[in-house]
Amino acid sequence: MPKFLFVTGGVVSSLGKGIASASLGALLESRGLKVTIIKMDPYLNVDPGTMSPFQHGEVFVTEDGAETDLDLGHYERFTDSRSRKSNNFTTGQIYDSVLRKERRGEYLGKTVQVIPHITNEIQDFILRGARVGTPEEVDVAIVEVGGTVGDIESLPFMEAIRQLSLRNGRQSSCFVHLTLVPFIASAGELKTKPTQHSVQKLREIGISPNLLLCRADRPIPQDEREKISLFSNLPMEAVISVADVDSIYRIPRMLWEQKADALICEALGLSVPEANLREWDQLISRLENPQRTVRIAMVGKYVDLTESYKSLSEALIHAGLHTESRVQIDYLDSELLQDGDVQRLEALASYDAILVPGGFGLRGTEGKIRAIQFARERRIPYLGICLGMQLAVIEFARHVAGLAGANSTEFNPASPHPVVGLITEWQDADGSRQTRSEESDLGGTMRLGAQRCPIHPGTRAQRIYGNEVYERHRHRYEVNNAYKSRLRDAGLVIASETPVEQLVEMVELPESVHPWFVAVQFHPEFTSTPRRGHPLFQSFITAAIERQKAKEHSA
Ligand code: GLN
Repeated sequence: MPKFLFVTGGVVSSLGKGIASASLGALLESRGLKVTIIKMDPYLNVDPGTMSPFQHGEVFVTEDGAETDLDLGHYERFTDSRSRKSNNFTTGQIYDSVLRKERRGEYLGKTVQVIPHITNEIQDFILRGARVGTPEEVDVAIVEVGGTVGDIESLPFMEAIRQLSLRNGRQSSCFVHLTLVPFIASAGELKTKPTQHSVQKLREIGISPNLLLCRADRPIPQDEREKISLFSNLPMEAVISVADVDSIYRIPRMLWEQKADALICEALGLSVPEANLREWDQLISRLENPQRTVRIAMVGKYVDLTESYKSLSEALIHAGLHTESRVQIDYLDSELLQDGDVQRLEALASYDAILVPGGFGLRGTEGKIRAIQFARERRIPYLGICLGMQLAVIEFARHVAGLAGANSTEFNPASPHPVVGLITEWQDADGSRQTRSEESDLGGTMRLGAQRCPIHPGTRAQRIYGNEVYERHRHRYEVNNAYKSRLRDAGLVIASETPVEQLVEMVELPESVHPWFVAVQFHPEFTSTPRRGHPLFQSFITAAIERQKAKEHSA
């Protein structure tokens, strides 16, 4: 049986429980342990796929095509573990599963109740997430409980982890509780009371934390830590101060310096080698010593909530770490570029590169197309991701291939040139309707998850990725195969296509025409990590650096 590290949160949400869990995962992994991190979300939605990015931030997509909470992105960035569908589940999924069993008569006529049926189901889901009984069983499963202690909706989860720890016996589980120690400006003091109350609340449920991670805007002094230790009945060393930092990648070291990982290993009865922070320290030193700053214009819709582009902004930062540069991302609202405001458009020229990320819905698309046209015509490095590729194809179709009114049927179903559409629409149109291969039909109508695709030789894509690409998808619309030859004839390079249906995966402009113009149907941002970087983003940032250098040179 794996060991379990349960991470709960207290006082308020948004304290960074996901990052704390991921950082602990990084430390345990560096001690040679095989870890996985599971996120339990107490809401009723079956998954976050249908939730607004304004509400919920980014939807992270796993290799096997699950639409999950963005915390899973942190887990994959901090550790080498790869998440699956089973690493994230919600109250909705638990109830769904229990109700199906009930309908099938699996409870043999018993009254089905929250305790034990829901709580047992939660435990089963946790064991599945930890891959128990499979060759991939982990040493430690870190289980993050979404929400805050005291929430009605998280109670069944709390009860389930309490029972699981009891069931597995001594040294099987360790409880980490993340709380807030606010600084009250008028009193000039850090206040420990909310933390005391939060620990009491946890105890009422029957859970005694082994470790407190106390978030504050500054390091928590000895006095306050003593107070917390006394009132929450924990040894001093178990009260860990987690101060605000300029980079989340400093957290593993911060926790290590206060021996968080050692305390956890002790609580779990694990005698394993010391943590090794070499890679993390290297990363921090890169972070602290950039040679230059590159400025990227990210032209999108959800610009007022950068959480919706979490993985993407992290991927750009990682690329900076691996190219000795600091990446500054300016989020520009595409709607403002929409209506002929030449000055605003012209301002894009001051950037070192332009990026159009993924997105859904009509709003702002014409503004994005203008930005792409600007990048193409002015030879500014351009990276298009998912929607950013579809719009690049539309822009090229309209302005280079002479297909006036070209569009995606997502935005104009009556377009005379639907260069992007639902696969069913364009296959119906040319009479060659085929069914999708199983591989690409993972999520029903949505193409979800990772897919392996060959890359055509002689392309920039091949120089970046090698002969094949294995990246994750999340989209419904595809470039219309019926238009491929016209686009090719006009000079668009289709650099990669899916093996069965020949769906467009990557497009680019030849180097003779543009210094760096690459657009991809998948989401490369999901596989970038700070320690390993990512070839596509590194290539993009390198192009941005080159543009900057060329500008300096000509100035
Ligand atoms: N809206 C487009 C589609 O569904 C693009 C999706 C995306 O960018 N993730 O195909």
